[in-house]
Amino acid sequence: MKLVFATHNPGKLQEVRELLAPDYEVIGLSDLGDHEEIEETALTLEGNAWIKARTVWQKHGLSCFSDDTGLEIEALDGAPGVYSARYAGPRKDPQANMDKVLRELKDKKNRNARFRTSVALVLNGEEFIFEGIVNGEITAVRSGAKGFGYDPIFSPNGYDGTFAEMDASTKNTISHRGLAIKKLVAFLKAR
Ligand code: IMP
Repeated sequence: MKLVFATHNPGKLQEVRELLAPDYEVIGLSDLGDHEEIEETALTLEGNAWIKARTVWQKHGLSCFSDDTGLEIEALDGAPGVYSARYAGPRKDPQANMDKVLRELKDKKNRNARFRTSVALVLNGEEFIFEGIVNGEITAVRSGAKGFGYDPIFSPNGYDGTFAEMDASTKNTISHRGLAIKKLVAFLKAR
C-alpha cells in the first residue's frame, strides 16, 4: 500500500521508508511532484500535524501521515512549543533560537524540558494520532556538533551529555520522533 509522508525532508523520509518496507511504500511530497509548502497555522503540534495529513488526503486522495515537533520548557510555560522552528524570528535560525532559550533561562533553577512529537495519520479517510515524548534538561551552554535544531542544549534524562553529542542511531532509539514513529509503525504493521 502506498502511504505519503507529508515532508520535504529526505532524511526523515528514508528512515521511515526502511521501517515500513515492504508492506508499505512510503513516498514524500516531492515524489508526487507536489512542491507546495503547507502552512502550519495551528496553535498546537497536533493541529499542525492534522493540517498537513488532511491537506494531502484531500488534495491527492492518498493515505498520509505527518509529524510536528516542539521543545516544551517547563519554566517558560511550554514555550517555544509549536513555535520551536521560528522562536527567534522567521529566519528559523537554530543558533538564534538557542541563544534566546539560554537567555530566557539564565536565572532559572528549573531547566526541565521535553521534546514532543505528534504524528497524525489519515488512513483511507480514518484518522489516528500518535505521540512521542523525551524528557530532559536544558544545559547551561552548548555542547556537541551532531544533530540539528536545539540538540546542543538538550540533555535527555538518564544520559550524559546532549543530543548533539550522540550518534544518530542512539538518538533515534530514544528520541521523541523515534518513539512516535515506532508507535505508528506498530499500528500499521498490526493492520
Ligand atoms: P519539525 O516539526 O520536525 O519541523 O520540528 C520543528 C522544530 O523543532 C525544528 O525546526 C527544530 O527547531 C525543533 N526540533 C525538532 N526535532 C528536533 C530534534 O530532534 N532536535 C532538536 N531540535 C528539534
